[in-house]
Amino acid sequence: MDVETIDRVGVIGAGTMGSGIAQVAATHGYDVVMRDIEQEFVENGFETIDDSLGRLVSNETLTEDEAADVRDRITGTTDLEDLADCDLIVEAALEDLDIKRDIFGDLDEIAADDAVLATNTSTLSITSIASATERPESVVGLHFMNPVPVMPGVEIVVGEQTDPELVDVAHEFAEDLGKTTWESDDKPGFVTNRILMPWINEGIRAFDEGVATKDDIDAGMELGTNVPMGPLTLADHIGLDICLHATETLHEELGDRYKPAYLLKRKVEAGELGKKTGSGFYEYE
Ligand code: NAD
Repeated sequence: MDVETIDRVGVIGAGTMGSGIAQVAATHGYDVVMRDIEQEFVENGFETIDDSLGRLVSNETLTEDEAADVRDRITGTTDLEDLADCDLIVEAALEDLDIKRDIFGDLDEIAADDAVLATNTSTLSITSIASATERPESVVGLHFMNPVPVMPGVEIVVGEQTDPELVDVAHEFAEDLGKTTWESDDKPGFVTNRILMPWINEGIRAFDEGVATKDDIDAGMELGTNVPMGPLTLADHIGLDICLHATETLHEELGDRYKPAYLLKRKVEAGELGKKTGSGFYEYE
């Protein structure tokens, strides 16, 4: 098992993360097959990629020819079987254990015997996802950060049965995409979300309990602790539904210290999911 043998990368899900992973892999010379369940979602993924490549051309990070080459290396499909000859497959579908287990069960049927099977899950257990296959040793967490083309790090998550050689390949692959890696055991939320989600929830509670205005909570954390975004702005960027879902998973696994903030649940119920719906803690154009 060697990163040198990886030429063709499959990406499952053409949403925020899947389209970003497809773009970055193609930028680093891999042939990519990006799969979603409907053609419309595949096209949305290509639109996101085109917008991102357009920005990189405008700021002279890529030439027009390089951007066109990246685009040409990505093929879209709605047929999972088109990933049969991929050397590494990254699943970035919805954060739902049943959906991910179904996908990995299907991958077990179609993927090559020596394919690396990776999941981009933020909080779900790699071991549970891997157990939907007959080859749990071939499953690893490749947790890319959002937005994938911009964020410099990837968290490698090691399941109970993940082959140590596969862990090395996962690090090498992410590094080949220009990312720096760190490693986490398969414990709820891994390193990043285990620490980030309670921080976001505490920011929401501080706002709800009248500690300060939302701007002052964000300013206090940005100016006082040197983070680039305060908790309320960051929650809007991630999506409040995603924050709530991640927090509920952590709450279920780790108990009351992860209880979601009441105002987070109320906003999600009201459909105010953050930047993507035009309103969350702040309003967006
Ligand atoms: P998204 O909603 O933007 O995209 C998910 C896509 O998966 C959708 O286009 C959907 O149609 C597709 N999909 C659903 N079922 C599918 C299937 N069976 N086969 C193929 N495609 C399918 O979600 P996202 O934000 O891109 O998140 C994807 C994954 O990445 C989740 O597991 C999430 O937890 C994780 N993640 C998200 C972020 C983030 O900030 N958004 C960061 C790190 C990791």
